[in-house]
Amino acid sequence: MNETKGSDSKTSNFIRDIIKEELSTGKCKKVITRFPPEPNGYLHIGHAKAIHINFEIAKEFGGECHLRYDDTNPTKEEQEYIDSIQRDVKWLGYDWGEHLYFASDYFEQMYKWAIDLIKQGKAYVCDLSPEQLREYRGTLTQPGKESPYRNRSIEENLDLFERMRKGEFPDGSKTLRAKIDMNSPNINMRDPAMYRILHVPHHRQGNKWPIYPMYDWAHGLEDAIEGITHSLCSLEFEDHRPLYNWFLEQLDVPCKPRQIEFARLNLSYTVLSKRKLLRLVEEGYVSGWDDPRMPTISGMRRRGYTPEAIRNFCERIGVAKRDSIVDFALLEHCVREDLNKKAKRVMAVINPVKVIIDNYPDDMVEELDAINNPEDESYGIRKVPFCKEIYIEKDDFMENPPKKFYRLSLGKEVRLRYAYFITCKSIEKDPDTGEIKVIHCEYDPQTRGGASPDGRSPKATIHWVSVKHAIDAEIRLYESLFTKENPNDIPEGMDFTDFINPDSLKVIRNAKLEPCLANTKPEDIYQFERVGYFCADIKDCKNGNLVFNKTVSLKDSWAKIAKKLNQNE
Ligand code: ATP
Ligand code: MG
Repeated sequence: MNETKGSDSKTSNFIRDIIKEELSTGKCKKVITRFPPEPNGYLHIGHAKAIHINFEIAKEFGGECHLRYDDTNPTKEEQEYIDSIQRDVKWLGYDWGEHLYFASDYFEQMYKWAIDLIKQGKAYVCDLSPEQLREYRGTLTQPGKESPYRNRSIEENLDLFERMRKGEFPDGSKTLRAKIDMNSPNINMRDPAMYRILHVPHHRQGNKWPIYPMYDWAHGLEDAIEGITHSLCSLEFEDHRPLYNWFLEQLDVPCKPRQIEFARLNLSYTVLSKRKLLRLVEEGYVSGWDDPRMPTISGMRRRGYTPEAIRNFCERIGVAKRDSIVDFALLEHCVREDLNKKAKRVMAVINPVKVIIDNYPDDMVEELDAINNPEDESYGIRKVPFCKEIYIEKDDFMENPPKKFYRLSLGKEVRLRYAYFITCKSIEKDPDTGEIKVIHCEYDPQTRGGASPDGRSPKATIHWVSVKHAIDAEIRLYESLFTKENPNDIPEGMDFTDFINPDSLKVIRNAKLEPCLANTKPEDIYQFERVGYFCADIKDCKNGNLVFNKTVSLKDSWAKIAKKLNQNE
């Protein structure tokens, strides 16, 4: 099956199959899904998967997808997160239209339903402390124990619950619990808490509520209020589904949504837990939630990933029922595939060394034609200035080259992209350090544009930038944030931060770019020929300062992995 490779095609998506079936039998008339983030962090690529699933399914079946903040825990939620979530969902290319909701707007309705449950004798106020609650709950192998407060009268429960709401009791002193079954093999059904006392102001409700609903109680009600038909969530909620359904069955709700679970996305060499990402930010391992090394949507955007690439990635990994780790290389492959079509090619020298072409006229400047995008003729051509002095990459020259080194070395000839063939004649070194300062070459005037009338063809073509016309830039090179393929799988006594890659960021300050890059705007993306794709930094590329983030290299390690997978089939 495809599933083992995490590359389900559209047809093998089991959620689509379920929905198609329901639509054909008339069980469902219009598909309504939702993406329900808790505003306690920035969205990451795992959320992109959930967003993609929910919005694409709604689109495919002519339905709608709501964006709903699951803002039921005021201690960790902030306006900054609320704003970033909307920005990121929009940037990914999805539109919730008028369907922007906040779970906190339903608190009053939820409270009424809680009273309904109490009146039915199916909920009670419990005075057990948090520790006792844990103890009474039992374990996977041991049944739970009934609370001594379980059989309070309906009147007493109504009175106590009302006083909980009025703020008469201190934090943690009481809970409202559903009265279900302390012997249930499913721990979630052992009289789960519905409300806890928390004297913390809410970002939208202010000081109105000293009690807050628990996730399991709230989530199904939120879905029902909005008329959600399919509540798609990740696999960890599978064991909560009986509870989700139980609440809906007891109450007179406007609709009965169906919860369907899918596997979370895990990605190699990174973490996708908001708790861990928050630690990376707070402990200064990265510069913020939008650090280009972060697997957040805003980090990836800053790095130069495109919404199209991320959506395509989500489509390729598909939707499965089983957890797996997707190779980061697949994400990079999708980015490369998209940028290959879109990015303008330019020449940039990251680690420059100077070349002097001794037989080239001193003050001559030639404007050479360069192709902007071989994948798309409409990008046209541009002029690149060429002079006697140019920069090339340090590692395109070797004084003592091994056998298969075809680039520049003493006596060897290479092609300069769009320009001439040059042959190395001598080098100048710093007498103290031995570092190569200047490479002296001669050019063949017959080879302008890159071809020789005698048909000879050097094995290597290298990029270059004219010294006189070069503009300076800061380049930020990135490697994976972790050295461990699965940083969630940590030996005892260690922390996931012990596996942070110390070389994940390298800053180069004196890169040399061709002059057409002078007017670069933040978020412009280029292919630096032979080097990789680079994106002008959204924050720091301003006031004439050029700062580029390396998006992805040109080398496609995914192609190799895919080939191996095919061979093993
Ligand atoms: P945490 O990381 O703290 O456990 P969370 O990732 O579940 O939190 P939410 O804001 O509750 O954060 O997530 C919103 C939605 O995104 C949920 O429906 C959740 O199932 C989905 N989601 C979160 N992470 C992933 C992931 N890695 N893969 C797929 N879906 C995810
Ligand atoms: Mg969650």
